[in-house]
Amino acid sequence: MDTINAQWQSKARGYLASRYRTTDTGCWEWSQSCSDNGYGKAKFQQVQVSAHRLSYMAHVGPIPEGMALDHLCMNKRCVNPEHLEAVTPRVNSRRAVYAYLGRNYTLCFTGRGLWQAAYELGGRPRRRKHFRSKDRAEAVRKVESFIADLVP
Ligand SMILES: [Zn+2]
Repeated sequence: MDTINAQWQSKARGYLASRYRTTDTGCWEWSQSCSDNGYGKAKFQQVQVSAHRLSYMAHVGPIPEGMALDHLCMNKRCVNPEHLEAVTPRVNSRRAVYAYLGRNYTLCFTGRGLWQAAYELGGRPRRRKHFRSKDRAEAVRKVESFIADLVP
């Protein structure tokens, strides 16, 4: 599907318009219910859909097959199409790791010159990555450069 019926888009925009409020940061924050994973829930023309996906289709067009919509504003409730970018699932998860690691990771020495960076993602089990280095400062530099590399 390369285009979306203009009439459908217009109706969908009308549906969305009364269901969000604009924040100081320009986010269109979904004011209806959200699913457990934090995304806005929409029901348009009898179909359950994530509100941000509906908004993208209504304002921009089809979501390319196999692509995920990344919230550039990190606000999952946001349905502003200008805050959404269609990216591959790989890029999307890399960015999520980056966002999380950039804010919060712990580093501990596990012996034999191995440092372990540990973090959680979206409440899912801890993930760990080892970095070999002589001292903590060097390990921190390696972790930070690992994090930087995650950004495509
Ligand atoms: Zn936003």
